[in-house]
Amino acid sequence: MKVYADLHLHSCLSPCGDTDMTPYNLVNMAKLLGFDMIALTDHNSCRNCKSAVEVGRAIGLTVVPGMELCTAEEIHCVCLLPDLKAADAFSDYVHNTMSAPNRPEIFGEQSVMDATDNIVDTEPLLLTAASTISVDDLVPLVKSYGGACFPAHLDRASYSLLSVLGFLYPELQFTAAEFTHKAFLPQYLEKHPLLRDMRIVRNSDAHYLENMVEPAEALELSACTPQGIIDYINGL
Ligand SMILES: [Zn+2]
Ligand SMILES: [Zn+2]
Repeated sequence: MKVYADLHLHSCLSPCGDTDMTPYNLVNMAKLLGFDMIALTDHNSCRNCKSAVEVGRAIGLTVVPGMELCTAEEIHCVCLLPDLKAADAFSDYVHNTMSAPNRPEIFGEQSVMDATDNIVDTEPLLLTAASTISVDDLVPLVKSYGGACFPAHLDRASYSLLSVLGFLYPELQFTAAEFTHKAFLPQYLEKHPLLRDMRIVRNSDAHYLENMVEPAEALELSACTPQGIIDYINGL
């Protein structure tokens, strides 16, 4: 089935995410824009996924629990989890690899929200700091939680796999990759042949409501569910 999905979105839990990017607001905005599915992918944390899933259930939009992990090499990778239990367990695992505290006056607040726009907690760890998880270990790690992952915004000059490592290699085991809407794909397929066998996704990476954009290309999924997109990213 055809599914319009934005698999890379930040809420106000990300220090760089706007305070208006509450789970309630961003899920409703995605519905208004015409999406069938979104993934909430805050930096190094799934703590706002529960509320986003709850809002999604109420309005009929599939919300996939996710995270944009910063690896030890400072490579951003989007991780998608099958359910909230797996997301909580993965989030706890990632938090245990981090120690730098947030300084809200410099980096911004990191708000954990309920489904009706109330702040219920603030995250003390600085979520934009790198974890100690190597990109070499990421695919099997996320799969052990029943999920899937792909390197984020490959065409960006910072925090992308290509900007840090320079090239893709098979041992990374990625079966999908993300580009921004601006990327001219043929140039990358020419230079990095491994991409030709990978599923390419484009997402907004919105940190502000006004940066959320209307769906462009539909994905062909087996189902409009977390498992449907996880299987797609895993090349199944
Ligand atoms: Zn990123
Ligand atoms: Zn992002």
